[in-house]
Amino acid sequence: MTADAGETPLETPLGQLLKEQIGAYGPMSVSQFMSDCLFHETYGYYTRQAAVGAAGDFITAPEISQVFGELIGLWCAVVWQQMGEPARLHLVEFGPGRGTLMVDALRSAKAVPEYRTSLQVHLVEINATLKRAQRERLGGEAGIAWHDDWPGAETFGGEPVIVIGNEFLDALPIEQVIARDGVWHWREVGLDAADGFAFVEGRPSGHAVDDSVRDGDVREFSEAQDHVADLLVQYAQAGPMASLWIDYGSDVPFTGDTLQGVRQHKYVPPFDAPGETDVTAQVDFSALVKRARDGGLGVDGVVPQAEFLGALGVIERASRLMSANPAQAGMIEAGVARLMAPNGMGTRFKAVGLRSAQLPPLPGFPVHDAQRGSA
Ligand code: SAH
Repeated sequence: MTADAGETPLETPLGQLLKEQIGAYGPMSVSQFMSDCLFHETYGYYTRQAAVGAAGDFITAPEISQVFGELIGLWCAVVWQQMGEPARLHLVEFGPGRGTLMVDALRSAKAVPEYRTSLQVHLVEINATLKRAQRERLGGEAGIAWHDDWPGAETFGGEPVIVIGNEFLDALPIEQVIARDGVWHWREVGLDAADGFAFVEGRPSGHAVDDSVRDGDVREFSEAQDHVADLLVQYAQAGPMASLWIDYGSDVPFTGDTLQGVRQHKYVPPFDAPGETDVTAQVDFSALVKRARDGGLGVDGVVPQAEFLGALGVIERASRLMSANPAQAGMIEAGVARLMAPNGMGTRFKAVGLRSAQLPPLPGFPVHDAQRGSA
């Protein structure tokens, strides 16, 4: 996949290790490969490097424009109002990266002082390097706790919870299956004749193939993402819960292999330089929504990022910021244009709100007739 065109793929310690493992035990599942690439205890991508930001391998919405985090901060304040302005609120961010979104969100929250004082912030982060960056930037703020593991519902003692995650779901491992002779088979990572990584077809998975499926079709699903939905259901069973998820992905089920690698701001094959390449997959929001609904949650969206930010007043906020900082006006405008781009982040990224069914529809999402007055 990478070695034709006379190019030698970059050998990495993790690549060697995985090849030895495959040599000894046979092909591994796509999710195992992805987990090792991202989270291997010594060589995993998220274990060892400062992945995010201009100096890292990819840039995210909060790193592009401060307006993104500020709007989400105000979104949280409005949700707090919808929850009846509780004296204590847990604000949980999954995968906070460099902490930029939270810095901006807490700054804009100062406009609503009672909301700000109600906050206990929880940052859920697996990457030691990023955790250090978060501590540097947020260590001075009041009421912040860090978690290595996903916090259980008991952490919040039944108090209201808001959960946010930007580009978190796409970093969760996925499984792939491939249709062969009317049966789904696991798609696994093995080795080709030249000792390079290659997809191979494994055992039947036991999932049924329906009429719409053609031979050779690939489907993806993510147990880790299901686990996120289940966790939200548990939070909502313990107390009021609202959550916001923004990521690149699809709001309808899709067919095809979306595993991709990104290194130094360029797309590379997902098997390239394991441990030094960020490996992600497109988020299947329809699967997340279904799981959440089955668990009794209310669902707002899925909408394109541009629609969500537009509804929150991104243009107004950017123009105010530009008038206040004329020297940076060009930069602010360019940043917001990138977040809203019709052929880029504005549509490729989607937003969804998952919440306790008793809460009204969340801000920034269109209210459907069926939802009106049902709260
Ligand atoms: N939200 C940030 C960073 C996105 S990158 C931004 O928008 O800039 C994905 C983030 O999720 C990183 O911080 C990564 O270390 C973290 N992460 C990935 N998998 C995780 C897991 N299983 N548990 C906790 N954090 C995780």
